[in-house]
Amino acid sequence: MGVQLANGQTYYAKRIVSNATRWDTFENLLPAEQMPAREKKWQKRYQKSPSFLSLHLGVRSEVLSPKTECHHILLEDWAKMEEPYGTIFVSIPTWLDPSLAPEGHHIVHAFTPSWMEDWQNLSPTAYEQQKEAKASEIIRRLEKIFPGLEAGLDYQEIGTPRTHRRFLGRKDGTYGPIPQRKLLGLLGMPFNRTAISGLYCVGDSTFPGQGLNAVAFSGFACSHRIAVDLGL
Ligand SMILES: Cc1cc2nc3c(=O)[nH]c(=O)nc-3n(C[C@H](O)[C@H](O)[C@H](O)COP(=O)(O)OP(=O)(O)OC[C@H]3O[C@@H](n4cnc5c(N)ncnc54)[C@H](O)[C@@H]3O)c2cc1C
Repeated sequence: MGVQLANGQTYYAKRIVSNATRWDTFENLLPAEQMPAREKKWQKRYQKSPSFLSLHLGVRSEVLSPKTECHHILLEDWAKMEEPYGTIFVSIPTWLDPSLAPEGHHIVHAFTPSWMEDWQNLSPTAYEQQKEAKASEIIRRLEKIFPGLEAGLDYQEIGTPRTHRRFLGRKDGTYGPIPQRKLLGLLGMPFNRTAISGLYCVGDSTFPGQGLNAVAFSGFACSHRIAVDLGL
């Protein structure tokens, strides 16, 4: 029936939509002990996917061959494809829009799956050291596709699962929900209505799942659902 903001202000509405994940909605925004059975079932079927370790690098242009591409995936060992740090994804946005970086430089965004557990219970010094160590390891691996990367580094920002949790507001920094076991396609994801009358969910823990196109679709579908439910 309503939403109370952190400053205590309360808004009432005929319909409430939560864009927070289902974990946030049913464990934090609503009392966890009142979680509807349908949500408990969902939590048994889906788990949080890992987060990422992200490097945003500023590199001198000569590091990149004129024949390079905007996107790369580096996987040295197929057996490690799904392991933390196994696969490295790379995007070079300045390859398409050079105005994003100072002249003579490119931005290389490299990210790889990483779990929150690896980054918890560390002192500030140990956390910084681990960030530096993991970043150096990734840069060393990337040398295979970008020889001279380390020598050409001009700037470096390292983001961990804790960064994702803090700045994206994501529980455990997760990328989103993934099935606990093989499910029959995307249809296992819940639609916008919830077991609580008048409460709807949108975003990446509703059908069709993660990704910008998918969450935009879920917002569109939710507005349509509400319009129909209101008899509009
Ligand atoms: C590194 C990375 C790369 C990605 N690359 C791509 C890509 O190339 N293409 C693509 O399509 N997708 C990509 N994605 C996925 C895409 O970004 C997400 O699927 C999408 O942004 C999820 O949108 P959402 O609105 O469901 O959730 P979010 O964007 O997470 O929005 C939920 C919001 O709810 C807020 N919230 C949580 N709890 C509360 C509370 N109690 N009160 C108030 N607010 C709260 C959070 O702070 C957050 O802002 C990427 C994601 C990551 C992390």
